[in-house]
Amino acid sequence: MKYSELTKEEINELYEKELRQYKKLQANKASLDMSRGKPSKEQLDMVEGIFDVLNGQSSFVLENGADARNYGGLDGIPELRRLFGQLFDVNEFKVLLGDSSSLRFMYDLVQQGMQFGIDGELPWNKLQTVKFICLVPGYDRHFAICEHFGIQMIAVPFKANGDVDIDIIEGLVESDNSIKGIWCVPKYSNPTGVTYGNDVVERLAKMKAPKDFRIFWDNAYAVHGIYGDTPLKNIMAECEKAGNPDRAYVFASTSKITMAGAGVGVFISSEKNLNEYKSHMQYATIGPNKVNQLMHFRYLKSVENIYKLMNKQGDLLRPKFDCVFKVLDAEFENGEIVKWTKPVGGYFISLDILKGSAKEVVDLCAKAGVKLTGAGATYPLKSDDKDRNIRLAPSFPPVEELEEAMQVLVCAVKLSALGRMK
Ligand code: PLP
Repeated sequence: MKYSELTKEEINELYEKELRQYKKLQANKASLDMSRGKPSKEQLDMVEGIFDVLNGQSSFVLENGADARNYGGLDGIPELRRLFGQLFDVNEFKVLLGDSSSLRFMYDLVQQGMQFGIDGELPWNKLQTVKFICLVPGYDRHFAICEHFGIQMIAVPFKANGDVDIDIIEGLVESDNSIKGIWCVPKYSNPTGVTYGNDVVERLAKMKAPKDFRIFWDNAYAVHGIYGDTPLKNIMAECEKAGNPDRAYVFASTSKITMAGAGVGVFISSEKNLNEYKSHMQYATIGPNKVNQLMHFRYLKSVENIYKLMNKQGDLLRPKFDCVFKVLDAEFENGEIVKWTKPVGGYFISLDILKGSAKEVVDLCAKAGVKLTGAGATYPLKSDDKDRNIRLAPSFPPVEELEEAMQVLVCAVKLSALGRMK
């Protein structure tokens, strides 16, 4: 059935039918949450064994002879730096490990750019304006950091085919010195699921940019394939090849490998950049939680083992993504009143519905007991000027709950669209 081919009477009839269905769903008084990309309990239980590795006999002596339980070591423990160096194909001296959050690194680096400046350049807050490029739809917390510091955000939409619009980005950065950063989630992007192509990575590394321009390369989903693995070009290697070795700040964490909010944050960059970061951070901390880092090293062991664990997590996530795709495929023709992405990894699915209806649909869902990410959250200043994007996060609820939540979403989308066609 195509909505565009229906008569007025048929539209009215369908609208009334959906309204009845909506009232029925509302009466169920569901309480379901598809709002944040959190691991499920089963996923977290999968890494239960992590606590055993520090039990009883095990010693806390690190390979450099230091005691993990004592002060010291701003860079993180050498064995885990080496493991992440292997995982991301960079020299271990370019890896710095922190506490539980990669977002914390991002915040600190923006704060340092604002207050102290980067590589001897003027602090950004001394400039008349400072701008960051934000690919949209994108990760709300990146945009919130910019908003917090008063950084102007330039929204650059993905192209219709889902690719990064590198022509626009290059044009903006090459013509405006006040652009000091770009937020990128290069693999299984939040929320579109896009993985950047080779050409995009190469051109980001190569393009003309101010000395203190930085690519905030948030590789949060580096090993999070659900339907196989999609390769991503190494941004550090590309920047080095292009003669811009200090351009990329690369982030990752084990939040969605081991435990969310209780894992290890990873910051990868040139040794010069790491030294600059540490020159400020030495006043904030004597060092990160090395006991947690050691526990992670002993548990994760090797790159091969990390992929083994992630494959098992993929097995848990796949039925959830399958469920969302199955419902969308069955209920809608992709593109007519709703368009959705088909990520092959990561934690999210992005929906574009009819212009001007995202807030209404999110609200309808909320009133029927299904919590979605707030409409507009995937845009700078929470402002989706077309009011059409909705982010779905299927990782947390069990499949049965997802099925129920999808029924509500489908009904809300249809009700809102038919209401507009009436
Ligand atoms: N970056 C992206 C793109 C995310 O989606 C998330 C969490 O959803 C984070 C970072 C948070 O990472 P962390 O827990 O390491 O702070």
